[in-house]
Amino acid sequence: MATYQWTSTSPEETMQFAERLGKLLQSGDVCTLEGDLGAGKTTFTKGLGLGLGVKRTINSPTFTIIKEYQGRVPFYHMDVYRLEDSDEDLGFDEYFEGEGVCVVEWAHFIEEFLPEERLAIRIAYEDETHRTIVLEAGSDHFDKLCKEITS
Ligand code: ADP
Ligand code: MG
Repeated sequence: MATYQWTSTSPEETMQFAERLGKLLQSGDVCTLEGDLGAGKTTFTKGLGLGLGVKRTINSPTFTIIKEYQGRVPFYHMDVYRLEDSDEDLGFDEYFEGEGVCVVEWAHFIEEFLPEERLAIRIAYEDETHRTIVLEAGSDHFDKLCKEITS
């Protein structure tokens, strides 16, 4: 599948980029977010929420694993870091196949539950303020979105 790349020079720019993506996401879309601690996964998610019309403040869901927000569609923010080394299924299918948009931080910890058709986002730390964002489109739908937001 095609990959796309974007360089961000500030947290605000990461949020703006993610907001553009969030505006284009549709009911049922799943995005995965990978990157080291402090890379910007939650920052990116805040931008996605803005693009989806979420009014509440989005915070790291570290202690709840799944947080639900309401925008123009339901928005599920998952941080599955604490599921490392467990194959616990928290009913992921219902989220991934439901009407909402899902974003999953540390998605590789629940690899077996992830749908094939997803947008895989990797954020790499370059220096204090620079991040490289790599998007891998798992379907034609995501391919179109990636083209649009990176052009
Ligand atoms: P993660 O969820 O991946 O652990 P966070 O989004 O919680 O990361 O934290 C990212 C940190 O990096 C924040 O303190 C943010 O201000 C900072 N930062 C600096 N530059 C950027 C950038 N270009 N994009 C995103 N975050 C950045
Ligand atoms: Mg985070």
